Amino acid sequence: MNFDQFDHDHLWHPYTSTINPLPTYKVASAHGVKLVLEDGTELIDGMSSWWAAVHGYNNPVLNQAAKEQIDRMSHVMFGGLTHTPAIELGKLLLSILPPNMNNIFYADSGSVAVEVAMKMAMQASISKYHSTKKTNFVTIRSGYHGDTWNAMSVCDPVTGMHSLFGPALNVRYFAPAPSCRFYDTWDESCTTELEQIIANHHGEIAGLILEPIVQGAGGMRFYHPNYLIKARELCNKYGIYLIFDEIATGFGRTGHLFAWQHAGVMPDIMCIGKALTGGYMTMSAVATTKQVADTISQGEAGVMMHGPTFMGNPLACAVATASVKLLLSNDWQRKVVHIESIMAYLMSQARNFSNVADVRVLGAIGVIEMKHPVDLAIFQEQCVSRGIWVRPFGRLVYIMPPFIISDEELTTLIIKLLEIIKPE
Ligand code: PMP
Repeated sequence: MNFDQFDHDHLWHPYTSTINPLPTYKVASAHGVKLVLEDGTELIDGMSSWWAAVHGYNNPVLNQAAKEQIDRMSHVMFGGLTHTPAIELGKLLLSILPPNMNNIFYADSGSVAVEVAMKMAMQASISKYHSTKKTNFVTIRSGYHGDTWNAMSVCDPVTGMHSLFGPALNVRYFAPAPSCRFYDTWDESCTTELEQIIANHHGEIAGLILEPIVQGAGGMRFYHPNYLIKARELCNKYGIYLIFDEIATGFGRTGHLFAWQHAGVMPDIMCIGKALTGGYMTMSAVATTKQVADTISQGEAGVMMHGPTFMGNPLACAVATASVKLLLSNDWQRKVVHIESIMAYLMSQARNFSNVADVRVLGAIGVIEMKHPVDLAIFQEQCVSRGIWVRPFGRLVYIMPPFIISDEELTTLIIKLLEIIKPE
């Protein structure tokens, strides 16, 4: 009953073949941290639907916000019109984003936010330097920024989609992934190559884009906060805009509300998404400073050249406002620290497994790096038969559960997970 033939024959799922698609499990409903399959099987969710559902599913507060807004209006265009949900959300976001942020651009998804952020940096750079020469980007390897064209171009060139799209992608500058890990002692040499690239090519570079502290889908790596301090220094020195992609790290996941706070380093442009709406619907936002916004506005175009149809969608704004308020009204930080300590304690057992290369935990993110890639179809079948939901990629088995997970649910999730990966 959990299998659907139409789905198998006609619906494309993320990164799947139509000839030999991976199995999909049919979800009938979801509540709290549980996904309920059609046959009634309940799964403890370890993924928060890819970082988004921080409050779990079917949350009464978020449901109410959606219902109230839907009875007023679901959507109106943002060109020439505005509305309270967009204004309320904007005020709330500016109260929690880095204090240098002043202008907010609402977008549809994380990838689109990255496109917008890159366009912002490029437009500001053209306006500031009166030249189209300084329009390229530098980034770090093992990054992931989304699946649209420019976002792909700054994803890791090996694990990303460069090999497939090759010459059609813009050629970016790539510094090595930060070698200095989050809990290591800082080593200045960690930024040597980044510095060299910037020193040699700053005349061509408009922006440095990176995921602060946690590199997500590009490798689930946690790196040292001092890297961001150095990145900020280099950007200041060479007139490069610093873009933080906080789409995955935002809204408490790493133990701070936003990951920039680990280093106290503020970007010029910042992308948020995923947990912005508590995982209810797609929405992202790009924030920037008054300086950047004004520089763009003083440029040749005189405007920010982007305007999605569903920009500032009132329904998404209303749910996002409810979600952020709910997060702030809960003791989320204590909860994340608590999840972190349980994960660190229980997952550390996997360090002794012969097939495990590394175990790392930061905030409400737990990663078990295997020595060899996981067979996804078999692994997921084993998860479902044990009542948990975890979706690895490659060698990375990771969990980032909703913050509302109970100690008992989290313990069950991890014990079942360890059962699956433990060598015979
Ligand atoms: N940036 C980061 C850091 C992400 O983790 C993701 C999504 N995994 C994206 C951008 C793209 O977001 P979306 O899938 O909403 O387009």
